[in-house]
Amino acid sequence: MILPKYTMGVGDRFGREGKAQLAALLRARKEGIDVSPVWNKSFREHSIIHTAPPSVRKAAAEAVEAMKWTHPYFVDADHINLKTVDVFIPSSNFFTLDVASAIGTEAEPAAIQAFVGKYSGCCGELHVEGLASPLVISTDLVDHVARKYLFAVQEAGRIYRHIEREKGTGRFVTEVSMDETMTPQTPSELLLILAAIADEGIPAQTIAPRFSGRFNKGVDYVGDVDQFAQEFEADVAVIQFACRRFMLPENLKLSVHSGSDKFRIYGPIRAMLKKTGAGLHLKTAGTTWLEEVVGLAEAGGDGLAIAKEVYTVAMGRFDELCGPYAEVINIDKNALPSVEQVAKWDSAAFVAALRHDQSVAGYNPNLRQLLHVGYKVAAEMGARYLDALDVYRENVAHNVEANLYERHVMRVFPGQVR
Ligand SMILES: [Zn+2]
Repeated sequence: MILPKYTMGVGDRFGREGKAQLAALLRARKEGIDVSPVWNKSFREHSIIHTAPPSVRKAAAEAVEAMKWTHPYFVDADHINLKTVDVFIPSSNFFTLDVASAIGTEAEPAAIQAFVGKYSGCCGELHVEGLASPLVISTDLVDHVARKYLFAVQEAGRIYRHIEREKGTGRFVTEVSMDETMTPQTPSELLLILAAIADEGIPAQTIAPRFSGRFNKGVDYVGDVDQFAQEFEADVAVIQFACRRFMLPENLKLSVHSGSDKFRIYGPIRAMLKKTGAGLHLKTAGTTWLEEVVGLAEAGGDGLAIAKEVYTVAMGRFDELCGPYAEVINIDKNALPSVEQVAKWDSAAFVAALRHDQSVAGYNPNLRQLLHVGYKVAAEMGARYLDALDVYRENVAHNVEANLYERHVMRVFPGQVR
């Protein structure tokens, strides 16, 4: 199973937006931009809103059928490990093997020695096409990578083989993710990690490293954009080099776990994809749930009332909702509007605060992050929330589609020559 060149991780927490998401991707195809969707919902999301992985497959299949989508699509077992993977196996064909928590655990001494022995041969200056200066690989670096990352890659191998036994070789796409960790991997480290992945026999088609900067949920990139651009460019070059040098799938590409809406880095990414011809998997999952709330607020009436209620309840349960996401949000509590203020808002005020348009005066990234992690509140509303999505379908679908098309797909993926 081959992952196409451009793919996008799209979330759909309540399973109602598949058609609107595909409408956005169909529009992009008309413009010569071919992006295939990968629906993802992590174990954490499933447990917070009490859903099970087969529901994602079902919603995806229904949307595909309704929209006559004839192109590839995937269902991602997102951020799984050996403990959580089993419930995802029947319904997923894409697996994000999350081994971040295994980083730093040392592998068996013999394995470390063997790795160091094998790769100290490539020590010195390594010329990588596409890099202005050569990578400098030292014995210390090889030793450091072996001690820090080898066990994590072995763990990825254990998860991969477990899935392979159940689903069969070549019947699913494998991603190795190391993004949910504190320290970014340098391009030289990435090269050696890819060597370890090849040695382990994992046919990874995407790799998600940790980039520098902050990728807070639902809001823009915080960090040095130039530094990110350099890192991204170097990683693309390293991946292309590693594919030729090691036995890795030739379509191996970077996966950017964006935490949604990293508009400041979209320009540099797009330029790099255009320049190098590299592929990309861009995960931007939570943005769709926020567009549901934008749509409800925009519609007014009960829709606006539900949007306000989600915010009011979320304010009252701030710690509980933010807790699981503490590492990936940064909310200035003093900059959150009070529940009383929000109660007086009309549609325009609520939409201005929530919709991700930084040029609008009322835009509030703190409110946006709180609502991003507040989907549990909507889940608890049950039928009331889901019925509102039906009643205000036009507003909701319009916002989901326009957001994905205008703010994401068209900004990050270059057109293709057919
Ligand atoms: Zn991630």
